[in-house]
Amino acid sequence: MKKKMRKFKIYRYDPEKDSKPYYREYSVETHEGMTLLDAIIHISENMDPSLSVRYSCRMSVCGSCGMSVNDSLKLACKTQLETLHGDVLKIEPLPSMKVIKDLVVDMEPFLDNLKKVKPYLITHTPDPAKERLQSVYDRELIDSSVDCILCGCCTTSCPVFWTDKGYLGPAAITKAFRFLYDSRDEGYEDRLHVLGGVGGVDKCHHAYRCVEACPKNINTTYAIDMVKKLILTGKRDTE
Ligand code: SF4
Repeated sequence: MKKKMRKFKIYRYDPEKDSKPYYREYSVETHEGMTLLDAIIHISENMDPSLSVRYSCRMSVCGSCGMSVNDSLKLACKTQLETLHGDVLKIEPLPSMKVIKDLVVDMEPFLDNLKKVKPYLITHTPDPAKERLQSVYDRELIDSSVDCILCGCCTTSCPVFWTDKGYLGPAAITKAFRFLYDSRDEGYEDRLHVLGGVGGVDKCHHAYRCVEACPKNINTTYAIDMVKKLILTGKRDTE
């Protein structure tokens, strides 16, 4: 197995102890197949137990380990070190979020925005005898957006969100798209005032950074445009 020494320059900040953030460099012997998260866990377990990082599943499902790597947002568990270039890898927390410690940020503003779009199936008509059916065509319309793991990489890469935390952001709007275009959902009116109001879809300026950042390859800008179209026409293209 090929081995290689790599340097990691990691953002450090403990608001309870440090007057300001700083960076600390670590040299790690890496090997083929090692992910960025593997390297950070190695540092935390063997070199510096004071380093804080949030993670859980290690397989791109829980969405906990989003972070900035050489100024691009990535999911650490999905990022093979071989794909990262440069003598020193600069690792930082998700941008524009309040740092709790080191690479761990406060996700509350992100989750608060998600709650505003009511990210669940809403129905007002009586339940059918058996189930609410969905055609293959209708399911395919929302196919990729269903994969969202709420890592926050899209929203925290958005320059509008950096300056305006009142903007819902691409993740919340993509989640709204997932339900608005679900042919079983009846929650258009329930979500309209949020999506079409201040902080809604009109704030998107098509910077496309969200699309680049998404580790699940979800076209968030397409989802935002589809929600805009729905608000303008009042129609969704389901069967
Ligand atoms: Fe993460 Fe992609 Fe979901 Fe945004 S759309 S929260 S980047 S998985």
